[in-house]
Amino acid sequence: MITHPDSATLPRRALLIGDRHVESASGGTHTHVYAGTGQPTAEVPLAGAREIDEAVAAARKAAPLWAGMPRDQRRDCLIRLAGLLRENAAELTRLSVIDNGVVVATQQYGPHVAADLFLYNAGWTDKIGGEVISTWPGDALDYTLDEPYGVVAVIIPWNGPVYALGMVLAPALAAGNAIVVKPPELAPYAALRFGELCLEAGLPAGTVNIVPGGPEGGAALTSHPGIDKISFTGSGATARHILSSAQKNMTPVQLELGGKSASIVFDDADLDAFAQMGLAGIVNNAGQGCINPTRLLVQRAIYEAVLERLAATARALPVGDPTDPASVIGPVIDDRAVQRIMGMIERAKADGSRLLAGGERMGGDLAGGYFIQPTVFADVAHKSELSQCEVFGPVLAVMPFDTEEEAIALANDTEFGLAGYVWTQNLKRAHRCARALVAGNVWVNGFTGIPAAIPFGGVGQSGVGRLGGIHGLREFLRPKNIWMAMG
Ligand code: NAD
Repeated sequence: MITHPDSATLPRRALLIGDRHVESASGGTHTHVYAGTGQPTAEVPLAGAREIDEAVAAARKAAPLWAGMPRDQRRDCLIRLAGLLRENAAELTRLSVIDNGVVVATQQYGPHVAADLFLYNAGWTDKIGGEVISTWPGDALDYTLDEPYGVVAVIIPWNGPVYALGMVLAPALAAGNAIVVKPPELAPYAALRFGELCLEAGLPAGTVNIVPGGPEGGAALTSHPGIDKISFTGSGATARHILSSAQKNMTPVQLELGGKSASIVFDDADLDAFAQMGLAGIVNNAGQGCINPTRLLVQRAIYEAVLERLAATARALPVGDPTDPASVIGPVIDDRAVQRIMGMIERAKADGSRLLAGGERMGGDLAGGYFIQPTVFADVAHKSELSQCEVFGPVLAVMPFDTEEEAIALANDTEFGLAGYVWTQNLKRAHRCARALVAGNVWVNGFTGIPAAIPFGGVGQSGVGRLGGIHGLREFLRPKNIWMAMG
């Protein structure tokens, strides 16, 4: 039986605006439900237009203080925040599990990865500058200054809130921006605690405001004239709403969206190494991860052998209590997701895909929560729904290919372009494939996660812009050019 979280152990249910906790908000309330049990945890107040106005005003007041703070002090605030994320890692992990039901074995890394992102970006704070430009005409000095935008609206999804906050807030704050974060109503708790830690770290009140909300709060934020830049992580459908809100004030937008990333397995691959990652598409976050390799393309000579191994592993995966360190897969986020995913499974069964493992909602002790069996389909038709659309659940699509050219063509033939994976021991082929894949990130013969120093982002319907590394910092800076007569 899965234990339901005790609501007394949740953070204060209140928006964090400046240094005030706002318990009653104009966006109404949301009954948050724990995915492990399907039972409510608490009522969470949601931001409406009034609280968005207040949060933007608090951020606008804090922005010049934060941008004007001596660089070493800004750096030290971010280093303190990294320390607090590590010290509070167990609590943030616990809250993340309650937020979205993803297993503790996965979530435990979130606060540490976020801490790394803050440390990495803290190192840039005293190196942000500009450049001197060789100019015409004549005796003059021409130079650029890299300046923060001002106030950045940050909209994050529910599937990894602490990690998502680290990816965006670390560079945006290091660049000198103040922030209004809108976490989703589906996963508010870890983000609220994160906001409290920002205050504890000594960031001036209003530098980071946390206003959980739904579409109404999100629309009020993204159309607000006090917002200078929008960072959105989520689905393509919502990105379209955001782009149409942003056009009102011509607000620039950075987008991290979904994917249907292919993993190409050639017949010379080290299959033992590949086996560690073969089911990553459904294991990572119960399949609810943007960069998951959810389409597996396997060269025909090894196709049946790989299928046999994948199916046996999938059937043996420990699915269960998200708080149990032995659980590898937990529930999906909510009942709507169960209905959507089960619909896709039923349509795949009907359209001729070969079901190798799973395919059902789970019963017994897990019946109350939103658990779906780890599911593997073989012989999935390339143009089918399962091959082309993001499932965001534990369902893997496998298909055979014959030649390298065919594999690349299949891999690139979706609307997405987030990640790509290649398994081969042929060095030339590895480089050829990595270059040919239309994707923001490619991993060859392994997977590193997303370390703080690498650029991360998509092409096509997977997004616009990059987070991570120096590229992520530049996303939140804009150059101003200054020309000065010297003669
Ligand atoms: P979603 O698009 O439903 O919601 C994302 C956020 O947008 C939430 O905070 C939501 O409340 C908010 N929102 C909803 N309507 C809005 C509106 N009209 N205006 C402003 N904000 C609004 O996505 P989700 O279900 O939370 O997350 C899953 C999606 O996110 C998947 O497609 C996944 O691939 C993608 N994702 C991408 C990355 C990445 O880095 N590329 C990372 C994680 C998730």
